[in-house]
Formats: sequence, structure tokens, C-alpha cells
Amino acid sequence: MYLALYRKYRPKIFDEVIGQDHIVKTLINQIKLDKISHAYLFTGSRGTGKTSTAKIFARAINCMDPVNGSPCGECEVCKSLEGTNIDVLEIDAASNNGVDEIRDLREKVKYPPVVGKYKVYIIDEVHMLSSSAFNALLKTLEEPPKHTVFILATTEVHKLPATILSRCLRFDYKLVSLDDLSSLLKRVLDSENIKYDAQSINTLARAGEGSVRDTLSIADRCVSFAGDTLTYEKVISVLGIAEREILINITNKILSKQTGEALVELDGVLSSGKSPLVFSNDLIAYFRDLLLVYTLGDKSREIVVVKDDIYESMKMQSTKENYAVIVKAIEMLSGVEQELRYSAQPRIVLETAIIKIINDSSLIERIQKLEDEIKNFPS
Ligand SMILES: [Zn+2]
Repeated sequence: MYLALYRKYRPKIFDEVIGQDHIVKTLINQIKLDKISHAYLFTGSRGTGKTSTAKIFARAINCMDPVNGSPCGECEVCKSLEGTNIDVLEIDAASNNGVDEIRDLREKVKYPPVVGKYKVYIIDEVHMLSSSAFNALLKTLEEPPKHTVFILATTEVHKLPATILSRCLRFDYKLVSLDDLSSLLKRVLDSENIKYDAQSINTLARAGEGSVRDTLSIADRCVSFAGDTLTYEKVISVLGIAEREILINITNKILSKQTGEALVELDGVLSSGKSPLVFSNDLIAYFRDLLLVYTLGDKSREIVVVKDDIYESMKMQSTKENYAVIVKAIEMLSGVEQELRYSAQPRIVLETAIIKIINDSSLIERIQKLEDEIKNFPS
């Protein structure tokens, strides 16, 4: 059976958790000094390691002989906690409203752990609990039995009541850095015997946007598409997002009237297997988005669905000076759609259209300049 990469490489000990050294260090110290709190709050973006560290911590505080603060994996307790849910209970607040489970928890919380020292409750997406479930949880947190530890995890800490926050030891998970994600990718791909180049690693790490889970899920998709060799071209053809970057690049060349460079960019796109018609439609949609950004200003943010950094680049392109080219591009590309569909040489049709966009808009700009000069000419 195929196991998703992010599941297969989920950290099992603290040393394997990446990018959260500040948290891991503190947790290991608490284990070494045997100073365990009753309630922890792990907060941060998705895929930054909250649930993984919670699971490691839950096993580590029960382990009979922790190795460097991590569960040994060998002792009786570690063995019996493997794959079962005695003593370590996970509640996903997102999958049900949690009231019943929390009520149930209040009943069961008084019973001591079966095999280890602590009974650990990991409540994932805790902000999804209903207010009555929060109240039930609060009552338990106010007088926790000696043997219980709560680990609450959430991506939206601002939705938690202050009464809950004040009872927890809080840890903020950071977005994982590009460097950390890149080394993780290399480690994972190496052990999967998949070849890669530096650029594909970089692109994947960027697309993961600080999330280990997203990065590995995207890598998964690329691997199942590309087989055992990842290349930049294969990675970008799987990633819709990265295509925005290509669009930004080629549009920059068109807007700055660099005909040769624009055609080189186009060549890169088409030789990766994209059809001229499909790419032309992508370009039209992109120029139309630029038009929206130009005419609506900040109101366009909700309509134009792209990542923040892409939106910033689009704002820089949507200027008054570029307006004529943007309109010309939409006109020209829409005009050749039929031709692209039926021509035996669609590539040439698209190349010619791009050359015309640049030439025509230069012409328009020159005429406008002349008109302005005539207007200002003292009569
Ligand atoms: Zn152990």
C-alpha cells in the first residue's frame, strides 16, 4: 500500500521535528526535569508540527527510559502505546462538535492511566469546540486530576476563550524556513531513491509556504506525475501556482517591450509541453486580472485569488503606464483564439501575437506622446 510521504516521514522523536527548536528544547527540558504541566497549547499554521510534537511528547512523558527526552520506542510502555489509544487519546474537534466527547472525557478523566504515568488528551483544532464543550473542558482544566495532561492544538488561537488560554502553557509554532524545508525534501527524496535538481527542490520548498505537510503533499503529487526523476519543468507543470510566476515573468517582458526575452520565456513554456492555445488563455486571464487590479485597486484583492507575493507583483505591473499594453494584449490574444485553435502552426500564431502586442503598444504610446507634445506646444 502506498503511504503518503508526510505520513511516512512523520517525526517519531524530537530530533526529527524541523524548524521548531525553541519549542522542542523547552519540552525536552521539562521531560528531563520531570516538570510536566497539566495543559499545553500548541498554536501555529497548519503543517508546522503541532500534532506531531504533541504525539511525541505524549509518549515521551510516559516512556520508562526516554532517550534524550524522546520516547525510547523499546520499553514496555512505548510498545503498548504504539498504534493503540490507551492513555494517549486524540480528539479531533473539527470532525464532530466535541460536546459529547468532552462530556465523555469529564467522566473518564478521573480514571488513572493504564500503562504509563500520564493520561494524555490531544485535542486537535480545539477552536472548533462549541461553547458548551469549552465550558466542559474548562471545568476539567480548573481541577485536572494529577495524572492528566491536556495538549490543545489550534491554527486559530484568537478563537479561544481567555479562560482557556490562561490555563495553558502556550507554544507558538513558526512557519518552517525554506532552508529547513529544502533539507527535509532532499532527505525524503534521497531515501525514496528519487533524483532531483536544485531548482525543483527550491520550487517545491517555496510552494509549501512554510508547511511541512503541504511541502511533502506537493512533492507526492510531483513524484506520482514525474516518476523517479524530478525536474523543474515537471514540478512547475504540476504546480498551478508556479505558473503564475511564469506569467509574471513573460508579462514583465511584454510590458517592458523586450520582444526577444518575451519569446524566450514563451519558448520555455511551450517546450515543457503546454499548448499555445491553453497558454494564450492563461495569458488573457492574467491580463484581465491585471486590469481588475488597475481599475479596482485594493478592492480587487478578494476577486483576484493569488498568494500575497504574487498579488504584490501584479500591483506593480498594473500601472497607468502599462494600461495601454494590458488592454492591447487582451484584445490581441482574444482575437487570435480561433486561429490558435485551427492553425497547423499555433506556436507561430502566438509568437506573432506577442510581437504585435509589443509593437502596437509602442506605436500607441508614441502617438500619445506626440499628441501630448502638440497639446503643450505654444500656439
Ligand atoms: Zn520507552
